[in-house]
Amino acid sequence: MDPVVFIQQHLIDPEVCIRCNTCEETCPVDAITHDDRNYVVDASICNGCQACVSPCPTGSIDHWHPVPKAAAYSIEAQFGWDELPPKQPMPALAQPLADAGAAPVDDAPPQANAALSPSSARPPWSAAHPYLNLHTLKKPVQATVAGNFRLTAPDAEGDIHHLVLDFGTQFFPLLEGQAIGIAPPGLDAGGKPHYLRMYSVASPRSGEREGYNNVSLTVKRVTSDHDGQPVRGVASNYLCDLRKGDTVQVCGPFGDRFLMPNHDGSNLLMICTGTGAAPMRAMTEHRRRLMVAGKPVYARLMLFFGARRPEELPYFGPLTKLPASFIDTSLAFSRVPGQPRRYVQDLLRERAADVVELLRGDTCVYLCGLKGMETGVLQALADVCAAAGLEWPLLHRRLVDEGRFHVETY
Ligand code: NAP
Repeated sequence: MDPVVFIQQHLIDPEVCIRCNTCEETCPVDAITHDDRNYVVDASICNGCQACVSPCPTGSIDHWHPVPKAAAYSIEAQFGWDELPPKQPMPALAQPLADAGAAPVDDAPPQANAALSPSSARPPWSAAHPYLNLHTLKKPVQATVAGNFRLTAPDAEGDIHHLVLDFGTQFFPLLEGQAIGIAPPGLDAGGKPHYLRMYSVASPRSGEREGYNNVSLTVKRVTSDHDGQPVRGVASNYLCDLRKGDTVQVCGPFGDRFLMPNHDGSNLLMICTGTGAAPMRAMTEHRRRLMVAGKPVYARLMLFFGARRPEELPYFGPLTKLPASFIDTSLAFSRVPGQPRRYVQDLLRERAADVVELLRGDTCVYLCGLKGMETGVLQALADVCAAAGLEWPLLHRRLVDEGRFHVETY
């Protein structure tokens, strides 16, 4: 009798996936697809290249189950899942398989194809070690709303909120750059519980209020879809409408890559749009709290921040009050009446000399916000480097490999 051929089937955890579509966009062989609820991988197409693994913001993509090739989970079966099936151990007599559509049959997932990823698959060397996945959808931690206020000006189009959640005496440690998951209460149109929505923490590790076990989030109320059609964002409206004292079910922490370096002399180059400012605020505030007698103890912080108008810019007031000796901030506004549209990539070009100087040094780069900014920003970095005789593809590769180039765009 022929031995049973096993594969390492690539699966996505529906409990943790935030349905951001990054994996489907990244997959070079179109093995990933979705219905109105789940993102799934077609075992007959997936070649285990792992190009999708590093861009995934939650790690929900990185699951590999040994299964008999003939009994691989179909995409229809995966569409019906609310959680991953239990992982079965690899039987001793499995026959290795090397053909397309399957990963090698040892217990480890196949090798990552790092050449395809623009973002680091590891944190900077001096990052603190993060806690991960302490609480799942089945066992969330209950947080209490300690504050909820609007960040954008009263006449601003966007309704962006600063939400503070308190964990009391419960163990839920967070680092800057990590995210937490929130499942809105109630059921979706299909009668199932809402899936998890992910929010980057906007506060430093020592808490939104220093010394308190709390965290802040930057939440924009979603009122229209990508085509401008009116739609009521389930999680964002739930969060923006919370009142002090309300309770929220929280999962996580998530994220073990987009973390900040902790060694003296490490510069931060931060580029963000809109609510993508959340992790930059957390990192900036962490370093601000470490200042000694009003003087930075670390190296340089450079921030490029884009918004439609000053009124739409979260944290605009406090940001403009930070001294230039602590952070070098450049703001790009795209919709100020009577002024030309400016994007963060335009500012990177204007500040080319300083950007290149930073890139030549011990610098970690963080990019967060709209998906659309990614191409323009990467091109601007390539252009400013080229003009200074610095070979961007090599530098980019090195930054990525060393855990110093992090992208989180949706
Ligand atoms: P937004 O207000 O729509 O846009 C912010 C600025 O980016 C605007 O000036 C906009 O200009 C500009 N922009 C648009 N396309 C651009 C491009 N191709 N290159 C450079 N700039 C561009 O932003 P938002 O609604 O706050 O969205 C923020 C994004 O961050 C969301 O996708 C969110 O998912 C993501 N994010 C949020 C968090 C969080 O925790 N809240 C964390 C990580 C990421 P225009 O005038 O052209 O629109």
